[in-house]
Amino acid sequence: MTRIYLDYAATTPTHPEVVKEMLPYFTDAFGNPSTIYSYGQEARAAVEEARGRVARLLGAAAEEVCFTSGGTESDNFALQGVAFANEDRGNHIITSEIEHHAVLETCKFLEKKGFKVTYLPVDDYGLVDPADVKKAITGKTLLVSIMHANNELGTIQPLAEIGKITRAAGIYFHTDAVQTVGHIPLDVQNLGVDLLSLSAHKLYGPKGVGALYIRKGTKIASFLHGGGQERGRRASTENVPGIVGLGKAAELAGHELQSECPRLTALRDKLIADLRERIDHTTLNGHPTKRLPNNVNVSIDFVEGESILLNLDLEGICASTGSACSSGSLEPSHVLLAAGCSHERARGSLRFTMGRSTTAAELSKVLEVLPPIVARIRAISPLLKKKG
Ligand SMILES: *Cc1c(COP(=O)(O)O)cnc(C)c1O
Repeated sequence: MTRIYLDYAATTPTHPEVVKEMLPYFTDAFGNPSTIYSYGQEARAAVEEARGRVARLLGAAAEEVCFTSGGTESDNFALQGVAFANEDRGNHIITSEIEHHAVLETCKFLEKKGFKVTYLPVDDYGLVDPADVKKAITGKTLLVSIMHANNELGTIQPLAEIGKITRAAGIYFHTDAVQTVGHIPLDVQNLGVDLLSLSAHKLYGPKGVGALYIRKGTKIASFLHGGGQERGRRASTENVPGIVGLGKAAELAGHELQSECPRLTALRDKLIADLRERIDHTTLNGHPTKRLPNNVNVSIDFVEGESILLNLDLEGICASTGSACSSGSLEPSHVLLAAGCSHERARGSLRFTMGRSTTAAELSKVLEVLPPIVARIRAISPLLKKKG
């Protein structure tokens, strides 16, 4: 059975050209970039070339890019690093209720260390209101952290507007852009951010490597203590093959953005329309247009997301749900609930995230198999009976 992968927000396959570019750095060019003989210098040059490639994708300067072990570390580094380095200026952080756990759990940790955190609500589309950011700022606010696009809903936040507010208030602004870097055009100057997290495996690079953009002049405490790598900000011998892979992935993404964005947007809008037409009681989660080009998130009433996922898996189709069991917790997704979804709707949520190899034919296959699956589940559903 050919598999249809529609979970690109969870991870992406490493691009063959990325793998090809990484391979020599495991074997022939294995040197430690901190050594002065040519082996080491070869590795050093590769790391610096990758840094330039990532910087170009972000509109940043190369020295503003710090490599990390992924999106989670970048988020931890940004929040903890800015909080601990600027304690003399205040103790207040502003974020949103729909952030990734890498941000939310770091905020909870910082609360235990004495910081105060405001968790801003979102509207029914999952949008943060910049006016709420402005209202939440106090004389003690150090940092605002609002994600660029939500990994579940796909909703894209008005970062540039928020950036103007933080800039005027002289407050640091961080964004988790793991879902947008390499997927939509972005520029750290236009967004007005001081720190930005990204992860290679969400943009066709390898797992276990990412980066944090740190605007020049930002006061931030180093994250890993040890050697002086990454300008003293993150000790540990560089993950040279991983960094080379991230650099190549960033370069490829830069080339493909212009054609991929409109192609995926058209597939997205058609899939949303077709799902709503063919399956009654289906609603779109997230914003209809301020939305990642590759994200479709719908709630199908009177069914459980997990039952649908298991049935789709039997047909070779990989998707995701914000419902409880699949994510290993008892509560449905905090994101869907924050965006005004009832528990019932959240349980029937289904997310398809598309990518470079997604075709219209694959989506036709989904539309062929999904309605009968839903009909079968509804026929035996206690949820439907309850409604009468
Ligand atoms: C995947 C993801 C992360 C975590 O990145 P890792 O590299 O897997 O640690 C953080 N934030 C968002 C929005 C994500 O989608």
